[in-house]
Amino acid sequence: MAYQTLNPYTNQVIKEYVNVDDSFVENALAKSDNLYKKWRNEPESIDKRMKILQNIADQIRKNRDEISTAIVNDMGKLFSEAQQELDVCISIAEYYAKNAKTLLSNKGIQTPTGQAHVQYHSTGIIMAVEPWNFPFYQVMRVFAPNFALGNPLLFKLASNTPGSAVAFEKVVKDAGAPDGSCTNLFVSYDQIDNIVSDKRVSGVALTGSEKAGKKIAASAGKNLTKSSLELGGSDPFIVLDDADLTELQKILRISRLANVGQICVSSKRLIVTEKNYAKVLQMYKDAFSDIKLGDPFKEDTTLAPLSSNRAKQELIEKVNNAIEHGATLEFGKVNEGLSNNFFEPVVLTNLTPDNPEYWSEFFGPVGLVFKVKDEQEAVDVANKSDYGLGGTVFGEDYKHAAEIASQIETGLIVINHYFLSAMSPELPFGGVKNSGYGRELGEEGIKTFANAEVVYINKYDPVI
Ligand code: NAP
Repeated sequence: MAYQTLNPYTNQVIKEYVNVDDSFVENALAKSDNLYKKWRNEPESIDKRMKILQNIADQIRKNRDEISTAIVNDMGKLFSEAQQELDVCISIAEYYAKNAKTLLSNKGIQTPTGQAHVQYHSTGIIMAVEPWNFPFYQVMRVFAPNFALGNPLLFKLASNTPGSAVAFEKVVKDAGAPDGSCTNLFVSYDQIDNIVSDKRVSGVALTGSEKAGKKIAASAGKNLTKSSLELGGSDPFIVLDDADLTELQKILRISRLANVGQICVSSKRLIVTEKNYAKVLQMYKDAFSDIKLGDPFKEDTTLAPLSSNRAKQELIEKVNNAIEHGATLEFGKVNEGLSNNFFEPVVLTNLTPDNPEYWSEFFGPVGLVFKVKDEQEAVDVANKSDYGLGGTVFGEDYKHAAEIASQIETGLIVINHYFLSAMSPELPFGGVKNSGYGRELGEEGIKTFANAEVVYINKYDPVI
């Protein structure tokens, strides 16, 4: 694949990058492996890495506009959204800068015959394969916890976001991280396979499509390399009878149109009980019409282009296919002739399980609305999905809403708000079903690629 920055709004190629050869990859593996062994023999080195994570946060703060420009040029999101993405990255780096040691501290366990403790050790190099939709955040989610633990990172970002990849590597280097801590690789799929099968690599993390997930998981399985997969989603957003519609109105638009709908945990399926259906559908249409397409660098633009022409064509095909199989185009039109890779938002209703697109993910500004008779049917519809990543339940009685939430098969669910409000480094992130397995961020995230080593003493002799 060709790594290039092709600005989706202007369609101009800004910069092309050359793929690295196998000797570059070998050199990167050797360097990172040496670093892993060095860190593994110096348990106190975690203190230095935590300081470097704070420097990384400071570096991002200092270069926020420059990095945001690289992100916008790569994949076309709004400049303000790129800045927000970096703010989340800062919070992740600072979270592990402050908490890594506590999160990794020994855990004591008493047994009937003795006493044990669990120690958390690094395991080796981690390979990360990451998508374009949040090119900085996705890498940070894997880098920060693993760096704190002592696992060096090799990473490959999507081929359309090489400018962001270069910027990430630079930030880490400028913050004082030793050589081999975090290496960007412009590699082919075959080279990724070779890296995953290398004994020095202890884990592979992929965020992306189901197709890529299956490929990476197979490759990892063949070599008994541990994997974690963060895949797609078609998150339910349930509006209960007692929902506060004034509060709902404030977030309906952003719940689906942030990042032009290209978010794994975007609220893709709005599920509304009969009582509020007509009103909420109208609110949704109003929210979807309140947009201004334009240059992502301009402040008055509210909807940016899609990330590429390929993404646009795939979405058009998907919406047309859904309509051909019986879905109703409730709002908007599939405007294929729009320039600058723009896609005007549409709303579909009557998407039934016999429609092949019912089971797929719409990665763009397409809202799917479902009318249900009651809460039970809302739960049933929410769970009738191959995905289980995120979700929202909206209801004035938040305790009841939380009870409904616990019936949803998903990795994370938000009460009375939308997914972005839960993008906090303390919270583990990941899904069930075809949305993948494993967790990133939080305490779980720093332990995903750790060795939980048990030390057992066969008598009562407290050592902790
Ligand atoms: P994608 O095509 O699967 O690409 C993701 C990454 O995998 C890219 O770096 C891509 O490289 C690489 N890749 C693709 N096929 C590969 C293969 N056979 N072997 C090795 N690497 C391979 O996904 P996308 O379309 O860019 O991203 C959108 C998807 O990601 C959506 O489904 C979205 O929901 C999901 N996503 C999930 C999360 C989450 O946290 N769960 C977050 C964001 C996005 P190239 O670019 O070079 O092809």
